[in-house]
Amino acid sequence: MDAASRRAELERLSAEWGSCTRCPLSEGRTQVVVGSGDPDADLMFVGEAPGFHEDKQGVPFVGQAGKLLETLLGEIGLSRQAVYIANVIKCRPPGNRDPLPNEIEACEGYLFSQVELIQPKVICTLGNFATKLLTGRPEGITRVHGHPQERRIGSVDVQLFPIYHPAAALYTPAMMNTLREDFSRLPALMSPSAEPPPAPAEPVPAAAPEPVPVGVGADAEPAQLGLF
Ligand code: URA
Repeated sequence: MDAASRRAELERLSAEWGSCTRCPLSEGRTQVVVGSGDPDADLMFVGEAPGFHEDKQGVPFVGQAGKLLETLLGEIGLSRQAVYIANVIKCRPPGNRDPLPNEIEACEGYLFSQVELIQPKVICTLGNFATKLLTGRPEGITRVHGHPQERRIGSVDVQLFPIYHPAAALYTPAMMNTLREDFSRLPALMSPSAEPPPAPAEPVPAAAPEPVPVGVGADAEPAQLGLF
């Protein structure tokens, strides 16, 4: 499918999904936040859920976490227009709480359809929710961040690359270096012939406490996010 047809199909689907009532989040949202960016992109980012600003503007990652994402993209020579950005769930949870299992289950089909249509080479999952959904495995982000995994999602073979959610780095500055370091590996993942940078240090052992479920409305207070 060429880029124009992809864009047209995504626009058609977005309009259709805009009236979704598959879960109770439809009652409190301003609008469904489907995704944004280049439908023909090789690199796709998957976050968690829209926050206050995303719900108002209808665009993912437009708050503080989004600004950090844009900065990190700039540092590797990319813009948000050059990638595609979506979330696990498309409607804002009240108070930016974590998505519930029934909400993820109701919404995941939309994300899988986006992957099927966009056919990215690399999917960068931001935080625990996207990582667990797309790896289909229970290991959390602290264990798996910075370690690419080959996955088949529907009919699409991708390199899945889990990294910390930018909101986690905003609230826990010690994570910023790790996030930057993981981010810097993206260009090599997208062009596998390039010399790969060294893999990060060994993952934290399984027994380590699982930190920060990144709940994440970009506008949420740290306490709401369960970060501290
Ligand atoms: N956090 C997310 O996970 N997604 C957004 O769209 C904004 C903040």
